[in-house]
Amino acid sequence: MQKKQVQWTELNIEVMYVKDRNFLDTVMEFEQQLESLQGQFHALKEFVALMMEEHQTLQQENFHLRQRLDEIHVAEEEALKQSEMNAKKVSRIDIGEGYDNLARLYQEGFHVCHVHFGSSRKGEDCLFCLSFLNKQNG
Ligand SMILES: [Zn+2]
Repeated sequence: MQKKQVQWTELNIEVMYVKDRNFLDTVMEFEQQLESLQGQFHALKEFVALMMEEHQTLQQENFHLRQRLDEIHVAEEEALKQSEMNAKKVSRIDIGEGYDNLARLYQEGFHVCHVHFGSSRKGEDCLFCLSFLNKQNG
């Protein structure tokens, strides 16, 4: 009985020792894991800082590009308005159409000259009309 008790104690001490060793290993392992996590966290922090910097740069670039785009749009609208106004001016004057109308009137047998304007040519050509049309065409 006494011997068995001693044996048990020795065994117990050995088990405790093994447990302590395991516990120490676990603590050291945990410390290594913490160090590794700290390293990862540090890298993550640097990555976030880099991303934030890049984000800000991209935001600024985006802002400038949008400004530039707005300027281009405004310039385009101005140019479009200008060209529309010019087109209206041209159509208001409409030299080509005016000449065509007079030429057609002459072809239909009427005077377009200042001397006999609107009266029938009676099938005869009129030098005044032809001269007038020539001037208009040129
Ligand atoms: Zn005439």
